[in-house]
Amino acid sequence: MYDRVYNFSSGPAVMPEPVLARAAAEMLNYRGSGMSVMEMSHRSAVYDGIIKDAEALLRELMGIPGEYAVLFLQGGASLQFDMLPMNLATGSGRVDLINTGMWSGRALKELKKLASPRVVASSEDKTFTYIPELTADMFDPEADYVHVCWNNTIYGTRYSELPPCEAPLVADMSSCILSEPVDVRKFGCIFAGAQKNLGPAGLTIVILRQDLIERAPETLPTMLSFRTHAEQRSLYNTPPTYAIYMCKLVLEWLRDLGGVEAIAPVNRRKAALIYDYLDRSNMFHATVGGKDRSIMNIPFVTGDKELDAKFVAAAEAAGFKNLKGHRSVGGMRASIYNAMPEEGVVRLVEFMREFEKNA
Ligand SMILES: *Cc1c(COP(=O)(O)O)cnc(C)c1O
Repeated sequence: MYDRVYNFSSGPAVMPEPVLARAAAEMLNYRGSGMSVMEMSHRSAVYDGIIKDAEALLRELMGIPGEYAVLFLQGGASLQFDMLPMNLATGSGRVDLINTGMWSGRALKELKKLASPRVVASSEDKTFTYIPELTADMFDPEADYVHVCWNNTIYGTRYSELPPCEAPLVADMSSCILSEPVDVRKFGCIFAGAQKNLGPAGLTIVILRQDLIERAPETLPTMLSFRTHAEQRSLYNTPPTYAIYMCKLVLEWLRDLGGVEAIAPVNRRKAALIYDYLDRSNMFHATVGGKDRSIMNIPFVTGDKELDAKFVAAAEAAGFKNLKGHRSVGGMRASIYNAMPEEGVVRLVEFMREFEKNA
């Protein structure tokens, strides 16, 4: 525990330290079972308690209504770019998509193979530094669904209002799930890879309205059908048992902190500390402005590639890790998920201030 750094990685990302300590304490003998969770049958009574608790906690923390299924899947958020069209684009076959960066771009690439997508709006003209203005008349009311990436991990933008569409809204919340309250009822589907805000890699959460599950054609391959996983409560085959256990520990940690309502103001405060400094600095600048700013991923630049590299190296040496920006944006990016302590952000801003002063 003593040599831990401040890890600003975009994902896999920092985990809450108490969760890691708990997992370590339970590693060899999970609550008197005499074995590690990763050695257990996924059909055992002990494990059944773990997966049921994980689902119940997620339902409690997000206020997920009974008419939604919660699925624990594998294949990453990326497999959902295929499963969603295969299962849901079965009416008109048309899907509306807002292009806000690489992850919606990946979704679009798959949609082109499996359905008839239409890009309703895009922010590509300004390197995805904003969320496009959206009005109801832009959307196809007959679309099977509308795909959005709610928080753009790479470009540091996030939606601050719901797109005014009639078709079911499908949101990739991989990098923002549980960071702020959302009204699940406004979405047909919310999905997220676990490795940013929920736990380790290997697990994907899919929250899906029951009537949308019914759309899955009977001819779909068994493992690619939401119906299979909903009917079998994510136990058709072996689920990622240990990742689900870790996710359960993260959810318990969040519940004990007071849930999403309690962590959201902390997240906003952490983000404001960095943005306020960036807005005043003569050296560092945020690449995103105003209401579209993400509170989870904050890209920033100096405008000078050499100075960027110098800063990243100095930060690494001082124990602030993984601040290098994504290769498509350059510069820096601080990912400050739920598990990043406020102190880490305070210390980072202090470090940036010192670096600027001494330059
Ligand atoms: C990380 C990320 C993905 C990709 O997730 P995988 O689990 O690697 O497939 C997709 N969408 C968003 C918004 C992400 O942040």
